Amino acid sequence: MAKVKLNNVWKRFGKVVAVKEFDLETEDGEFVVFVGPSGCGKTTTLRMIAGLEEVSEGEIYIGDRMVNDVPPKDRDIAMVFQNYALYPHMNVYDNMAFGLRLRKVPRNEIERRVHEAAKILKIEHLLKRKPRELSGGQRQRVAMGRAIVREPKVFLMDEPLSNLDAKLRVEMRAEISKLQQRLGVTTIYVTHDQIEAMTLGHRIVVMKDGEIQQVDSPLNLYNLPANKFVAGFIGSPAMNFIRTAVEAENGKIAFVHKNFRLVVEGPFAEELKPYVGKEVWLGIRPEDIKLRSEATPGEHTVIRGIVDVVEPLGAETEIHVRLEDVKITARIQGYEPLKPEQTVELEVDTAMLHAFDVETEKAIA
Ligand code: ATP
Repeated sequence: MAKVKLNNVWKRFGKVVAVKEFDLETEDGEFVVFVGPSGCGKTTTLRMIAGLEEVSEGEIYIGDRMVNDVPPKDRDIAMVFQNYALYPHMNVYDNMAFGLRLRKVPRNEIERRVHEAAKILKIEHLLKRKPRELSGGQRQRVAMGRAIVREPKVFLMDEPLSNLDAKLRVEMRAEISKLQQRLGVTTIYVTHDQIEAMTLGHRIVVMKDGEIQQVDSPLNLYNLPANKFVAGFIGSPAMNFIRTAVEAENGKIAFVHKNFRLVVEGPFAEELKPYVGKEVWLGIRPEDIKLRSEATPGEHTVIRGIVDVVEPLGAETEIHVRLEDVKITARIQGYEPLKPEQTVELEVDTAMLHAFDVETEKAIA
């Protein structure tokens, strides 16, 4: 096990700045996920840690050792890629043993490690098969096995599940999580899938345009996003953003839009005081909206709109509602037999609202 540390790391490809000012220190045995949209620099950062890409500026440490000039094979890491890159002519055992043979690991030690990894991954019965005789999920396990037998200090994984179908991806996700817990090896995992990030990571690094936006636990990213980008990226369906004015109202604060007026109080209202008379981005998560019930007392938690689309998902119903220039998505518990074009009253949980500065897009909280 080892900590991984990146100290003000930059990567330039000619004029393209792929990674900027990247600072991170993992814990021993931590599972850290890099997530962000395509091209945000996740893979490049992982490849710099692996030694497959040179660092333009800054330092990378694995354990106590600065590894900028250490070749990949001497970094004590093992990588799992999206295309598992198994050797087609070798059987599963040889695929797993290959790297160890190159390193001149003694034969009985190779045997021990391969059998142990095969047992953990439940592929003992497949050791004699060739990759073409395996399912996608089994191949993925072999690729994991090849990394495990190395007994590395750090696992680096680049979208290892993206070639699998949706069901298998969910299964393998749970297995990777259990495996990492069991082995306790520091793991850095790249994905563009926020759900994968949320379910796997002890901590998540959200990136955009080569820059870290926030590093935090899944729950904190969801509850306390640092800015509008993180707020919109984490959570599905995505947070609704509406440009509103902020007004003071008897010691309370109201988000005012031509179609509604939502009132908040308490500490959040205090934070919003400097914005009175200005505009902000109001953020409402779809799951913090329900249909208005008869019992709802006032107007200060209600948004009225026209139903655009209704998507029954079984346990929940997703409703897309329009208010002139704005669209709002709501995720309602249970089945709601609403019809397009009908008027609907949505009740917003005003204790769960978010707000963002329109200039900096930073969270106001
Ligand atoms: P994806 O999810 O699509 O894999 P990513 O977040 O992993 O994206 P990177 O592959 O790290 O993104 O790419 C970051 C940026 O660096 C992109 O703008 C990409 O075009 C650029 N880039 C990556 N590799 C090279 C290269 N070898 N030469 C020039 N530019 C590169």
